[in-house]
Amino acid sequence: MCIFCQIINKEIDSEVIYEDDEIIAFNDIAPKAKTHVLIVPRKHIETIKDLKTEEGDNALVGKMVAVAQKIGKEKNLEGYQLTFNVGKSAGQIVFHIHLHLISNG
Ligand code: 5GP
Ligand code: ZN
Repeated sequence: MCIFCQIINKEIDSEVIYEDDEIIAFNDIAPKAKTHVLIVPRKHIETIKDLKTEEGDNALVGKMVAVAQKIGKEKNLEGYQLTFNVGKSAGQIVFHIHLHLISNG
């Protein structure tokens, strides 16, 4: 099972800041800025390249962005970066899709 599936199953501890029936968000273990949150669907999808429209994955990605917006609002962030690393050559190291929310305020 992948590391994010283990976090989702609470087999590995993380600092959870949001969760619902489809999505969990937790602090990155190696933050690149003051705020660095990972927004992760409970469904295991390896990369953005593997999204399946017919399984509702596009809507799921839309929900991930909506969760990012909610967290940004709650943390009162003026600006933030939202990033998907797609594939090894782009720096993806965990092969379970996740949206990075990165901000210094
Ligand atoms: P990627 O490079 O795949 O887009 O990003 C993976 C992110 O997951 C990295 O920023 C890394 O620090 C984070 N990460 C890897 N393992 C763990 C972990 O066990 N717990 C948490 N909270 N973050 C992790
Ligand atoms: Zn997984």
